[in-house]
Amino acid sequence: MDIDNWLTAVLALRKAKRVVVFTGAGISAESGIPTFRDADGFWQRFPPELYATWNGLLTTVLTKPHSVAEFVLNVIEPVAKAEPNAGHLAIVRMEQRVKTTVITQNIDGLHQSAGSTELQEVHGSLLEVVDTSTGQLVKRFERDDLMRIADCLHQYTSRQQSAETLLLELQQQYPFDWMGRHRPNVVLFGDGLPEAVWTKACEAVVECDVLLSVGTSGAVYPAAMLPENAKAAGATVITIDPKPRHGCWLEGDAGTVLPDLIHDAY
Ligand code: NAD
Repeated sequence: MDIDNWLTAVLALRKAKRVVVFTGAGISAESGIPTFRDADGFWQRFPPELYATWNGLLTTVLTKPHSVAEFVLNVIEPVAKAEPNAGHLAIVRMEQRVKTTVITQNIDGLHQSAGSTELQEVHGSLLEVVDTSTGQLVKRFERDDLMRIADCLHQYTSRQQSAETLLLELQQQYPFDWMGRHRPNVVLFGDGLPEAVWTKACEAVVECDVLLSVGTSGAVYPAAMLPENAKAAGATVITIDPKPRHGCWLEGDAGTVLPDLIHDAY
């Protein structure tokens, strides 16, 4: 750990009146949810153009239904089993000391489970189903509900169950609309970001004194612009990641670095 960067981060946090914590998949890695880019060949197994766009998914499900079920299982099962880790909980403690907005790219709902209140989920949440024509929330899942869906998918991928049985069982868990209006509230490649959420995120970023960027490779735009925007607006940008980053970089895992940093700053 670079001691100069540590001191810069501690002093900037002590002085700050507003903080933004911008998180990516890395903060949830210690909760057992793999980051797709680090996970061994995830995007090679499931090419994003076939599995991570709505059109791709709808086409692929007709030709390779078992592969789509495997993809969905890979995404929802770790989220169904996850609990907030020391990194998520440290952010909640920080919120008690300084005005903090959490902006997350994650869809796992773990900041909400940890108790973060001022939270912008810019890529949506796997725990919500929305009506795409009105934007209204249709259902909010508990993690147990996701686990029941994962169980159905396991039966199907292991070929112990037919597609018909799978659909019948899923209907009991998921508020299907056969016109396709009800969808998991997640932003896939090529989708626009939820407008109101994105606007609030951008406002918080230009108003903050410190932006803490945690566990993100900064490869997914437009979310990846947020640290650059904060810097341009005069904020100190601090990055927590095991992999080297430019600027004020605190090397290590979020579940270790965040609690220590918040302890030293407040
Ligand atoms: P990414 O996979 O591109 O990058 C993850 C980053 O986290 C890497 O820089 C890696 O070094 C770092 N990291 C790994 N373990 C860490 C740890 N213990 N502590 C801190 N950092 C750690 O993720 P991204 O930048 O978030 O972009 C991927 C997209 O896919 C985003 O939209 C993301 O939200 C989504 N995604 C979400 C989840 C989730 O909801 N948990 C999981 C996978 C992917």
